[in-house]
Amino acid sequence: MDVDALRKSVSQERGVIIESMRGMLRINAVGPESGGPGEAERGRYLVALARKLGFATIEVLESSDPRVPAGKRPNIIVRMPGTGKRRMWVITHMDTVPEGDINAWKYPPFEGTVVDGKIYGRGAEDNGQELMASLFGAHALLKLGIKPEFNVGLVFVSDEEHGNTHGIDFLLAKGLFKKDDLVIVPDHGQPDGTAISVVEKSSAWIQVEVSGRQTHASTPEKGVNALEAAARYIVLSVDRLRRKFSTKDPLFEPPVSTFEPTRCEANGPNINTVPGRQVFAFDFRVLPEYDLDDIMRELQKSAKEVERSSGAKIKLSYLNRSDAAPKTSTDSEIVKRLASAIEAVRGVKVHPIGIGGGTCAAPFRRKGIEAAVWSTIPETAHDANEYANIADIVSDAQVYAVLFAGKNID
Ligand SMILES: [Zn+2]
Repeated sequence: MDVDALRKSVSQERGVIIESMRGMLRINAVGPESGGPGEAERGRYLVALARKLGFATIEVLESSDPRVPAGKRPNIIVRMPGTGKRRMWVITHMDTVPEGDINAWKYPPFEGTVVDGKIYGRGAEDNGQELMASLFGAHALLKLGIKPEFNVGLVFVSDEEHGNTHGIDFLLAKGLFKKDDLVIVPDHGQPDGTAISVVEKSSAWIQVEVSGRQTHASTPEKGVNALEAAARYIVLSVDRLRRKFSTKDPLFEPPVSTFEPTRCEANGPNINTVPGRQVFAFDFRVLPEYDLDDIMRELQKSAKEVERSSGAKIKLSYLNRSDAAPKTSTDSEIVKRLASAIEAVRGVKVHPIGIGGGTCAAPFRRKGIEAAVWSTIPETAHDANEYANIADIVSDAQVYAVLFAGKNID
């Protein structure tokens, strides 16, 4: 048995893959924070599907959550015993964000409409595509009677879009994953599928509250202009951060840490008032070699200077903080194996990258477990008209099939 036989076996399932994907997308799996029912029904559908495909070992680990009608959030593990000792996991999530503005959709968000080689629907790309691809990759081995090289576990988690408490964190707390395991988290990728992400930047969302003193705009000397102080502070602090934390790492695009002022709240309706209060936010994405505490110290220093020169008060607080996890080595077993599976299926050259946002790979890396992030996606996640390319689902399934088979094929 060789790579071509596996590829062909997956291609033959194209129709079943499409129908399975459509069936899944018709079941709303929006989390309770967004008013959705959670993943219970979608989970039942997937357990039934895995059973129908012939998988013998399927576990459901439920985290109780009174906010959903079922009272529980399912986490599903489909296992396939391998010939070797080590374990290989593919972690995908069942939940989706809500549809957003329904009028912006060309096709209904919970229908799985197929047009021009694409399947439209909320959760088609994020993360339904890779869930199906991993399932049908494993199924190809089952069909051909090939054992995986390692013990494969396909994990379909709940609660990824809103904090992971009932999903991956619940499973990590159970001690399901061990140091020697190989993990793929296919929840980020590019349209050409040639990049494997091995590291993430730290991210910090910081709220800045500038308090001055409101007064009539014709007599500014009686007040302290909070907007002007905010403007001076933004320019001073961001310039300094960009100069001081300027290291480049070519794994990332852009290769530098980014320090951006972003959201700015309204400070009052009228033009003829000097504002006494201005609230805005920073979004920082910082290379992993830097400590966010050092960045915060630098921000405080600039704040003190602007306070002295303007008479305003500046208060800084984290809205969100995520410190980068250790990098998965570009020479790690999972990266090498995944790269060679992609290259074998597609004949392309694969390269490692870093990414600016956080993924579920981070908690694994913190535990010293190698985790690679990869997928071939059109980058429509969370958009109206989210879709998945059928060709990508089939091709990624072929990659999983070859990866799982490992040395048990030629
Ligand atoms: Zn996702």
